[in-house]
Amino acid sequence: MREVVVIGAGVAGIQAALDLANHGVTVHLVEKEPTIGGHMAQLDKTFPTNDCSMCILSPKMVEIQRHPFIRIHTLSEVKAVTGKPGHFTVTILAHPRYIDMETCTGCGDCVQICPVEVYNRFDAGVGVRKAIYKPHPQVVPDRVVKDAEHCIECGLCYDACGPQAILHEDAGREMTVSAAAIIVATGYEVFDAKKKPVFGYLKNPDVITSMELERMINASGPTGGQLRRLSNGKEPKSIVFIQCVGSRDMPQNRPYCSCVCCMQAMKNAMLIREKHPEIEVTIFYMDVRAYGKGYEEYYERAKSVGVKFLRGMPPEVQADGKGMRFVVENTETGEVQALRPELVVLSVGIEPSPATAGLAENLGIPLENTGFIRSAHDALDTTGTVRPGIYIAGTAVAPKDIPDSVASGESAAMRAFVDTKKTAVRARSV
Ligand code: SF4
Ligand code: SF4
Ligand code: SF4
Repeated sequence: MREVVVIGAGVAGIQAALDLANHGVTVHLVEKEPTIGGHMAQLDKTFPTNDCSMCILSPKMVEIQRHPFIRIHTLSEVKAVTGKPGHFTVTILAHPRYIDMETCTGCGDCVQICPVEVYNRFDAGVGVRKAIYKPHPQVVPDRVVKDAEHCIECGLCYDACGPQAILHEDAGREMTVSAAAIIVATGYEVFDAKKKPVFGYLKNPDVITSMELERMINASGPTGGQLRRLSNGKEPKSIVFIQCVGSRDMPQNRPYCSCVCCMQAMKNAMLIREKHPEIEVTIFYMDVRAYGKGYEEYYERAKSVGVKFLRGMPPEVQADGKGMRFVVENTETGEVQALRPELVVLSVGIEPSPATAGLAENLGIPLENTGFIRSAHDALDTTGTVRPGIYIAGTAVAPKDIPDSVASGESAAMRAFVDTKKTAVRARSV
């Protein structure tokens, strides 16, 4: 059997799907969101090269769409898996999109005319979208989705759509596919900063998360790349980053380091300083973790453009009549400092995506206490699981940066490819 199911179409799943398809394997790429791309599509730039994130990812997304051996299943999830290695039967549930994928051209006329605006999850709280929408301009597949929960059935989009592609009813559909192997690449969610009320997230509009900052400084994001305070729309004169929010937190069962947030803070701080040298930027940290290739040099570069690093963790962010205020001990000098930043960025950590637990149960593979998927061996087999034929990749296993996610996708693909070959050999010999 020359088929593999890849669950999750972030960068790890995309890489796995492309590697398999380029070796002649048919891939069913299952993604719960309306578009492939995962969190990488939300990022402004990537470290340590400061490449535009979508400039790297978008060609791969387009390649996926055009590949004759890849079937994309968006708004979909895996409901059940039966069978054995080499001969799995996978049930995929596609949730309603209310759009005829064959006739929709992706023109966006319906989006223009829709009167309903709601929070756009893709923009992480900074932007809005319509009730019929594309999460962002470079979606793959290039089709809209109707959000039945917020649609008021005003009828305007039906009239605006020339090809009559919008459906009044859509019950979704279920299908089964065969697979020699399965790759789980369900990715991550960012930590919900509301769970750390001491920092005032959502109480104070000038306390934002690292993902909200990514969307704000992205030239194709909701503010067109304009850095501004959500309280008054003005550019902040001083910004602080607070690290390890939701990571390295034993009492909350998040003992792990999220791996990427030191580098992400450095990157965004550096980008801000390079564009706005007049803005004072300080990163408050416990340790700076810059472990990858070129990362230490990147840290030095951040310091060279004037990003300040202060070892100390503010216990809380207070607000008074003059704005935000916090007191922090510099644990290198013992000095206690009081600061009044105009914008606070919480460097939120990584958690397993919410779908991971149910999927792991369906697949019969165990989780760690933290909710990440347990690999067959933490040192020697990080893409295998206890079940032969089921492989894992990307941040479903543990926090990873983009290069490591891509490498794990490649590794999982190679192992799944070998399974397809073994199945083919067995089929020929019976
Ligand atoms: Fe265009 Fe119709 Fe598709 Fe909307 S549903 S993008 S109007 S073709
Ligand atoms: Fe928007 Fe719904 Fe009206 Fe269409 S019918 S324009 S999706 S509110
Ligand atoms: Fe904290 Fe840095 Fe680890 Fe993120 S990468 S959890 S900010 S030490």
